[in-house]
Amino acid sequence: ALDAPLAEAWIRALAAAVDVHQRELTDLDSAIGDGDHGSNLHRGFTAVLAVLDALQPADAGAVLGRTGSTLISKVGGASGPLYGSAFRAMGAALPPSPATPAEFAGALAAGLAAVRRLGGAAPGDKTLVDAYTPALAAFERAVAGGAGLAGAASAAAEAAERGMRATTPLQARKGRASYLGPRSIGHQDPGATSTALLFRTLADVTG
Ligand code: ADP
Ligand code: MG
Ligand code: MG
Repeated sequence: ALDAPLAEAWIRALAAAVDVHQRELTDLDSAIGDGDHGSNLHRGFTAVLAVLDALQPADAGAVLGRTGSTLISKVGGASGPLYGSAFRAMGAALPPSPATPAEFAGALAAGLAAVRRLGGAAPGDKTLVDAYTPALAAFERAVAGGAGLAGAASAAAEAAERGMRATTPLQARKGRASYLGPRSIGHQDPGATSTALLFRTLADVTG
């Protein structure tokens, strides 16, 4: 089950992964955007860590909700409001008690719905939605098949990584990369890459 300590471990692992991959995320964004995706997320998650240090979270929903509101307030780029809304929606969807895998699947679905409502991107638009959508589907499938949190998260991480790689041949239709038109083809989407880190760190802390 997903309780407050596990939610906090996930966010701390994601912050550490953003730190390790900051340069790679920025390089990907330099190719088809404005070269700030790594620094945007690094700034956001540094602020999130400070908030978590000061917080005595009552439940997992509070951890994810505070993560979301901090990202929204600290990150100027598109990814801040998008990831921020996703985490806030996840937090709001979680019950006060430790979440079952099915309840956590519902929270992940609420997160994706928030991203799509805010950003208007559909699958195939070469955004983080292209990693999140297959990851959520794999998570839900695993839970329906009786998997626990660890099994579902591991299936989701693999699906997110496949979705991330599948953004390379796409032409961007949302975000800054869409300004490049066909010149966005041949580059992996930075946001899909950070979403793969989000699901990989979830698998790491639950496995
Ligand atoms: P900015 O583009 O404002 O500099 P970032 O570089 O931090 O912001 O984030 C860029 C990433 O945000 C893109 O790689 C893409 O995955 C994601 N993104 C941008 N616009 C949208 C959108 N409308 N819907 C979903 N994701 C988006
Ligand atoms: Mg950028
Ligand atoms: Mg920017």
